[in-house]
Amino acid sequence: MKQVEHALIVGGGIAGCAAAIALAQAGVRVTMLEKQQEWRFQSSGIFIYHNGLAALGSLGVLPEIVSSGFAIADGRNIYLDERGEPITDTFYPSRHPDIAPIVGIRRAEMHRILASRLDALRVDIRLGTTAVRIDQKTAEHVTVALSDGTSGQYDLVVGADGIRSEIRRLVAGPLEPVYTGLGVWRSVHRRPKNLTAKS
Ligand SMILES: Cc1cc2nc3c(=O)[nH]c(=O)nc-3n(C[C@H](O)[C@H](O)[C@H](O)COP(=O)(O)OP(=O)(O)OC[C@H]3O[C@@H](n4cnc5c(N)ncnc54)[C@H](O)[C@@H]3O)c2cc1C
Repeated sequence: MKQVEHALIVGGGIAGCAAAIALAQAGVRVTMLEKQQEWRFQSSGIFIYHNGLAALGSLGVLPEIVSSGFAIADGRNIYLDERGEPITDTFYPSRHPDIAPIVGIRRAEMHRILASRLDALRVDIRLGTTAVRIDQKTAEHVTVALSDGTSGQYDLVVGADGIRSEIRRLVAGPLEPVYTGLGVWRSVHRRPKNLTAKS
């Protein structure tokens, strides 16, 4: 089987940046397309659990993630109602002795940390660009036409372009997410002084 030498990643979100780092670290030449004209790091909070933290460790960004976020050393997630009464009290143990069970971090900060690794790994980032066509004529590679009028040959294409993935549509035809009837409101607040669990 042919080794992957050149990968195309479509989408520069958390998934795209993580895949780009992992592939570039493994010696693969990586081109990344991001349809936004410039990097936009969007916020809200995100919790990362021990398995995700271990993956971030293998990408070389764990110390920065932990120092920019808030480690929940006891692994407890307590959800409160509007009066501050507990609804659920959940415990997530860590399977890794050196890794916190949970880290809470601003999503924008996590994305910024991942994206800032790409230059050092010489990822070819094309902002304001997307893929418009994928042709596979041989088993070894695909030819991808880009929105800037150029095209390239790649051994691997990763669709990391979010919930309404255009890559999924190009490969598998029209598939739309279906609203399940569930929703969530999230807002970011200052941490109460008595919330001090930090490893
Ligand atoms: C309110 C909320 C709370 C959440 N909380 C958590 C949590 O606590 N823990 C957790 O693990 N997860 C959480 N998630 C889920 C997590 O945020 C998402 O799974 C994750 O952000 C998805 O990342 P992604 O890179 O796959 O997609 P996205 O973040 O959607 O990134 C896709 C990227 O691709 C680009 N793009 C799109 N289309 C194209 C195209 N055609 N060509 C080129 N580029 C394109 C976009 O501009 C974007 O940069 C939460 C989600 C929400 C909404």
